[in-house]
Amino acid sequence: MEKSNYANSGGREGKGMNYVQLRTFDNYIEANIVLAMLQSAHINCHLKDEHTVTIDPLLSPAIGGMKLMVHHAHAERAWSLMDEAEAQYLKNFACPVCHAHALKAISVHKQYKCRLGALASMLLNGQAVEVKKMYQCEACGYDFKELPR
Ligand SMILES: [Zn+2]
Repeated sequence: MEKSNYANSGGREGKGMNYVQLRTFDNYIEANIVLAMLQSAHINCHLKDEHTVTIDPLLSPAIGGMKLMVHHAHAERAWSLMDEAEAQYLKNFACPVCHAHALKAISVHKQYKCRLGALASMLLNGQAVEVKKMYQCEACGYDFKELPR
């Protein structure tokens, strides 16, 4: 295990109970890309239930997919890293309506109006907030649920 010298870790690493579920994946490849990205930024994280999903992808919806577990001290930084990575990723897609490369992701939290509220809930309950993902074109304002293929 790499020793993290991230200043905000507070010296409480390694207790095992200090992980919060940042989000879930039902796609093995996507999960591992995000995991590698976070780990390369010295985020203390791992995937839970990964093995089960890999053996039988059909089980994935039943168990809620792979859970990305992040040390609570790193949760907020991990979250903003994921946002940055997603923004980069979205530049690969053109708007299906006006063909501008101006897509952005909108997260609609079902229970919480703001990210801090959601984060607080994660830290208190150790549970991810249910989030609905939408995408919007900043050029023409069109929004859609699935990325254009
Ligand atoms: Zn557009």
